[in-house]
Amino acid sequence: MKIWLDGGLQDTESARVSVFDHGLTVGDGIFETVKAVAGRPFALTRHLDRLTRSARGLGLPDPDHDEVRRACAAVLDANPVPLGRLRITYTGGDGPLGSDRGEHGPTLVVALGETTRRPDSTAVITVPWTRNERGALTGLKTTSYAENVVALARAREQGASEALFGNTVGQLCEGTGSNVFVVLDGEIHTPPLASGCLAGITRALAAEWTGAKETDLPLDVLERADEVFLTSTLRDVQAVHRVDGRELPGAPGPVTAKAMRIFEERSGHDLDP
Ligand code: PLP
Repeated sequence: MKIWLDGGLQDTESARVSVFDHGLTVGDGIFETVKAVAGRPFALTRHLDRLTRSARGLGLPDPDHDEVRRACAAVLDANPVPLGRLRITYTGGDGPLGSDRGEHGPTLVVALGETTRRPDSTAVITVPWTRNERGALTGLKTTSYAENVVALARAREQGASEALFGNTVGQLCEGTGSNVFVVLDGEIHTPPLASGCLAGITRALAAEWTGAKETDLPLDVLERADEVFLTSTLRDVQAVHRVDGRELPGAPGPVTAKAMRIFEERSGHDLDP
């Protein structure tokens, strides 16, 4: 397996970053996960735009989009897989122990993992911990993911594949690696960005293509929603058949099934120019 590091392709086994890289020591980094179908990245422009927004939020230098595009193309060429996930990681780079940044500038790594299609429906749990809708990192896709790791482990223990967070004012927010939608009386709703959720690329496309509304939703909407679904780069649109102890029989329900169909049809075309 080849990855991109320090401006070129390297063997995964021998590629090295500093043990003082701030991505490692203080989680000072950002990332993107990009779906790659038959060797082509999906919606790469949108991912690069979000990478830049995350970099600016952290005060990292703007990533060079041309370099990242070249890196993605080179990694995909070197590792042919039918369905994959490109992982773009961009960190504060080598620095002193502690939180001050060093002189070295950022580290860019692009790697590829093979994936398979997710099942059409899944179980989720809610967790008692809250997303902070007004934090310094809110809405940024940073490598500080430990909270998501903990919540996902809790979900796995309970036979679920995703954990959903509320925010500090009791509103539904998002999952550890996905956005959430609910169907109420035939209408599709998703929490607004002000809830503290990530501006998911799949969320934006699914909302545009299905006419979903951005609505402040209390966390307990999950106890009465007719249908629930998740969106993410790796899940696409995925129905939810259980939330905590509540079964949603027949998932995907009719509205979710239609959203899945629309997403599958339209996302078959690369959105990049
Ligand atoms: N929310 C979080 C916290 C995520 O990490 C992700 C994706 O990794 C998403 C939502 C979904 O975003 P996207 O559709 O761009 O993959």
